[in-house]
Amino acid sequence: MKRGFAVEQGATVVCAHLSGAKPDQVSTRVRLGGHAAIALDPMWSVDHCSPPSGPPCKNAFWIVGSTRVTSMGKALVVQGGTGLCLPTLGPLVVQSTQTRVTIG
Ligand SMILES: [Zn+2]
Repeated sequence: MKRGFAVEQGATVVCAHLSGAKPDQVSTRVRLGGHAAIALDPMWSVDHCSPPSGPPCKNAFWIVGSTRVTSMGKALVVQGGTGLCLPTLGPLVVQSTQTRVTIG
């Protein structure tokens, strides 16, 4: 379980190479200032990653998010949670998100 700011649709999430990542699907009914919160389970897509060496990140997924606050039984993505990019296994990082709602 991780406690942090809830990540909403439109938050800035990047791979280790600072390429933007977006969820393939936004499915929660939880709203954060008008934007949907993001469930932990959908896959993410990383756009235009170009690392100095090695393969680029293509997809990503979250492993650790909120567990007490859920939407339809699903954990939510939080800033500071644990995410991994594929095939690089680099971290998924929430650069900026809303700062009014903290969940855990
Ligand atoms: Zn990358």
